[in-house]
Amino acid sequence: MTPGTRPMIAGNWKMHGLAADGLALAHAVKDGAKGQAELVVCPPATLVAALAGALAGTAVAVGGQDCHMAAKGAHTGDVSAPMLADAGARFVILGHSERRGAYRETDPTVRAKAEAAIAAGLIPIVCVGEPEDDRLLARAEEVVAAQVAASLPEGFGAAGGVVAYEPVWAIGTGRTPTEADIAAMHAMIRARLVAAFPGQGATLRILYGGSVKPANAAGILALPNVDGALVGGASLVAEDFLAIAAAAG
Ligand code: PEP
Repeated sequence: MTPGTRPMIAGNWKMHGLAADGLALAHAVKDGAKGQAELVVCPPATLVAALAGALAGTAVAVGGQDCHMAAKGAHTGDVSAPMLADAGARFVILGHSERRGAYRETDPTVRAKAEAAIAAGLIPIVCVGEPEDDRLLARAEEVVAAQVAASLPEGFGAAGGVVAYEPVWAIGTGRTPTEADIAAMHAMIRARLVAAFPGQGATLRILYGGSVKPANAAGILALPNVDGALVGGASLVAEDFLAIAAAAG
């Protein structure tokens, strides 16, 4: 944890949740929320407005999972940052490896989306992380440093932007880097944030994501420069998500 930084536990529901079960999950998270961590649930776009309404005035905020870089236009099927904000979202996940992979999103695309999010008053949660080959070839830090340099727009620090380090090979696999490797990567990201955003970089939140579960959360969340977690699979089970939040203090 970084001194002076409030931890964040964000749940990425991915393409899971119809109205009834999504609302039930959100209510269970809200009812069980306690402790100091800021909790965020990121449901599919179809549920953002309903959850924002249900969670208004509670300790749980709502985020989107992606947004377009334009505020409006001829982009069939896309959702813009002002639309997410209008629906009640406060955060948006950007550059998730599933989008970088399946939709070939590049660092400049992610950066433009983050700019659009900030302009709409959303706080971007920008994901970075190396594929397994780069970890095996000992160039994980180099790859992630390049993503950090190219994915974060100028206003990221002032907007209180969040970076999520998510090694691609750890997402949904049950595998995680060693705690030493997580700490080393987060220290490198911290140094880059301090250099890029001198006023805010020391306290911007850096989340770890990739197979965070109740059993490994306490160890990961105690590492220096780990200011919370971005949680996929375990965020779909309220008691697991809440146990991870409790491990944040
Ligand atoms: C994710 O998809 O952002 C993620 C971290 O997934 P999981 O926790 O399931 O590995």
